[in-house]
Amino acid sequence: MKNIKLLVIVFFVLALYLSPVLAAEKFNYKMAESVHSNSKGSFYRSASPDETLKNITGGKVRNVILCIGDGMGFNHVTLARHKSVGPNRKLHMERLPIAGVMRTHSTSSLITDSAAAVTAMASGVKTNNGMIGMTPDKTPHSSILELLIADRWRSGLVATSAITHATPAGFASYVDQRSKQVEIASQMLTNQVDVLLGGGQKFFLPKGIGKGVREDNLNLLVEAGQRGYQLIETRQQLLALKQFPVLGLFADEGMTTFAPEPSLAEMTRTGIKLLSAENSGWFAKKPKFFMMVEGSQIDWAAHANDTDRVIRQTLLFDMAVRETIEFAQRDRHTLVIVTSDHETGGLVLKEKDGVICPEWTSASHTAADVPVYAFGPDSERFAGVMDNTDLPKRISELTGFKEFPVARKQSQVLEEVSIK
Ligand SMILES: [Zn+2]
Repeated sequence: MKNIKLLVIVFFVLALYLSPVLAAEKFNYKMAESVHSNSKGSFYRSASPDETLKNITGGKVRNVILCIGDGMGFNHVTLARHKSVGPNRKLHMERLPIAGVMRTHSTSSLITDSAAAVTAMASGVKTNNGMIGMTPDKTPHSSILELLIADRWRSGLVATSAITHATPAGFASYVDQRSKQVEIASQMLTNQVDVLLGGGQKFFLPKGIGKGVREDNLNLLVEAGQRGYQLIETRQQLLALKQFPVLGLFADEGMTTFAPEPSLAEMTRTGIKLLSAENSGWFAKKPKFFMMVEGSQIDWAAHANDTDRVIRQTLLFDMAVRETIEFAQRDRHTLVIVTSDHETGGLVLKEKDGVICPEWTSASHTAADVPVYAFGPDSERFAGVMDNTDLPKRISELTGFKEFPVARKQSQVLEEVSIK
């Protein structure tokens, strides 16, 4: 009896002693409020333990998940680490066992924009800033996603920008000017991507309906419905999804990244759930999928030199990366690559009174190299210094395409969306 009393006392003393230590462990950065109104506090869950993941080797790549932090340079990652888990721990993306460095320049400039960058990362060719899916002479080149779709892979594009914004657009459309988002929306539907989640509803609707901007009088939401897409626009609908194809447009243009919208992590988790669902039947083959997940707004926050927002957006992106890691660890045939299209803001990290002190040297993109982190079968192919055009070349090798990059055949004119 006496022993039990003593144990209880020791327990309470220990708990009292440890509580400030535990509280200090808990991340409570002020900008990291939940993206959901019904749960106050931080959305960020740090990795615990946070040591480097033991790589999965030897298996064959069955799925590829490419996560792109738009505008995310090395220092954006470092800054988010310092302000969330501290200098000695790791973000989820930093736990990936393979790391590399990627060059980003475009044909027209040493400083790329997202359009030229995604063309390199999706189609394997350099182009001028502003152009998507084609070389400077306007020869369209197939994206790795288009080739995989033709090879019966399932496909997904997830972003917090409009889904027709440059980075997601680069995987499923071919335009000479990134501002042609109306055209991009049409092409995305005809390319039959199974999971499309993000903002940008206005580019799918004709003028006069909602915030629609289409002047061709087409209602692509009706068209999508006729093509079998489930149309959703709320978090509740997202979380209730059971199967693809789905077109989820949660905002007229870019998402707010606040409640009541779904978070990037939730969209990523749902995308993985739908695309990895096994076919029924005795002889059904294991499905294969390619999904691109973009943390679109790290770039926007960095253009504004808004440090708090950059940290928040980077951590929101990291939570989506966490979803991909958890799936890849279970699946064991999933290659996860986390990278960026370019650095934004010329972020320099100084120290003041023992605390990291960010300084922005630009309101635009810079020529800085960007990080590459990878995990899963054959992920070691993404180590070292590479060009952004090498990224899809290596993915194409691992997924069975001998010829890449490939110009789209002249006859391969995109089918027109025809509904009036
Ligand atoms: Zn930008």
